[in-house]
Amino acid sequence: MKFLASIRIRLTVWYMIILGCTLVFFSTLVYYQMKRSLYKSVDHKIMTISEVVASSIAPQSRSVLSNIEERLTKKVGRQPAGKFVQLLDRSGHVGMKSLNLRNKRLPVSYEALKNASEGRITYETKVVFGESLRIITYPVKSRVKKVRNIVQVASSLTDVEDTLRQLIFILASIVPLALIIASIGGIFLANKVLKPVNEINRITQEITSKNLGLRVPRPQMHDELGELVETINGMIERLENSFRQIQQFTSDASHELKTPLTILKGEAELALRKEREPGEYRHYLQSSLEEINRLSRLVQDLLVLSKADTGRLTLQAVPVNLSQLVETCGQQSKFLGEDSEIHLELTTQPEVQVLGDPNRLKQMFYNLIENAIKYSNRSGKVMISTTRNGQYAHVAIRDNGVGIASEDIPFIFDRFYRVDKSRSREAGGTGLGLSICKWIAEIHKGRIEVESVPDAGSCFTVILPLLNENA
Ligand code: ADP
Repeated sequence: MKFLASIRIRLTVWYMIILGCTLVFFSTLVYYQMKRSLYKSVDHKIMTISEVVASSIAPQSRSVLSNIEERLTKKVGRQPAGKFVQLLDRSGHVGMKSLNLRNKRLPVSYEALKNASEGRITYETKVVFGESLRIITYPVKSRVKKVRNIVQVASSLTDVEDTLRQLIFILASIVPLALIIASIGGIFLANKVLKPVNEINRITQEITSKNLGLRVPRPQMHDELGELVETINGMIERLENSFRQIQQFTSDASHELKTPLTILKGEAELALRKEREPGEYRHYLQSSLEEINRLSRLVQDLLVLSKADTGRLTLQAVPVNLSQLVETCGQQSKFLGEDSEIHLELTTQPEVQVLGDPNRLKQMFYNLIENAIKYSNRSGKVMISTTRNGQYAHVAIRDNGVGIASEDIPFIFDRFYRVDKSRSREAGGTGLGLSICKWIAEIHKGRIEVESVPDAGSCFTVILPLLNENA
């Protein structure tokens, strides 16, 4: 919950920061735009008045200037309120003034006077008579374009400043208000978006090894959370499968271990039931030794598989002469078939090279050859061939033995799967040989293919990538 609360708050805080910055930016923009346009409007007004006053100054008669207010009223149609007008000569000496200036005068800056003498208009903002004034200094030119007089018109900025103050007040109240509303909306939205996360959290907390069948319900929308739920459910499914496999493997392994142990126990009890001849004891011990051999092979196979499952088996990756390796395996396995007069035939294409672990490869071929002999009939024939086929090496181990029914073929590589349990046991099989072979082929980036016809024989072909000399 701590995590969720923090995401919610972080989302809202970020949302507010971004919104706050945007609002402040736009408010500043609005304020300056408003200020500009208000000043422009004032400037426009004082410019118009200046032009009126300038046009009233007849070059010949000075009498026209006797009453500026009268002139303005005549031209503009009304007496402009809050406007001060004064007339200067070229050197800046004040001449006529509007009546509202009384005995005061508008300030004339050096800059404005200089600009006017050069025929340029100047706008200035100054605090005069205790209030802010916008002042225009307007040169009046003669017919020959010479500056004759200077008109100064000032307008009070009180209204403009009041308007701007009001605007600041409005903006300053709207921004925090908008932020408060947005933060409430943000928390509401974050809550709504994160609600399914609570559900995911609750259900995943309930999942243990005992109820791996539980799944997180998919949200209605196929969004990022939907994908997350799918990923979590996929992970639980994989875990469930692995768990089931481990449970199955443990129960199969216990079962497999139980049989030889029961036999061993039975034989020992039988041997000890009464005093026996040394020959009889030998018989019991021999039979026990067979079971012990089977047990030790089973434990060895289990160890290989468990190490393979957990990736704890370190493998070599060296160039291997497969032709030689398979031939050695074949030669060394010949004795296995001697009792049942099974004939082993080897055909080998020379120099078939692969990259791999020679010990593991040997283990795989021994297993397959041993199986071919185990599941052959008396006086059967086992043919082993090693060939190069494109980019792959093919090692085929063919027998003319009992064969495998097509419905059993998909399962023979499963752990502990045996088509004929009693035959496998009799021959010392553990039911793990082919699973180990499959694993060895796969870690060498290869595979095993099976063809089999019941009562006609089987062919197991190991396909491994050839060693690329140029690689
Ligand atoms: P096992 O130790 O029982 O031989 P494997 O994993 O090596 O276990 O083989 C699994 C099963 O596949 C065997 O029990 C057997 O029924 C069948 N099988 C394997 N190889 C052959 C073969 N060459 N011919 C007929 N059946 C075979």
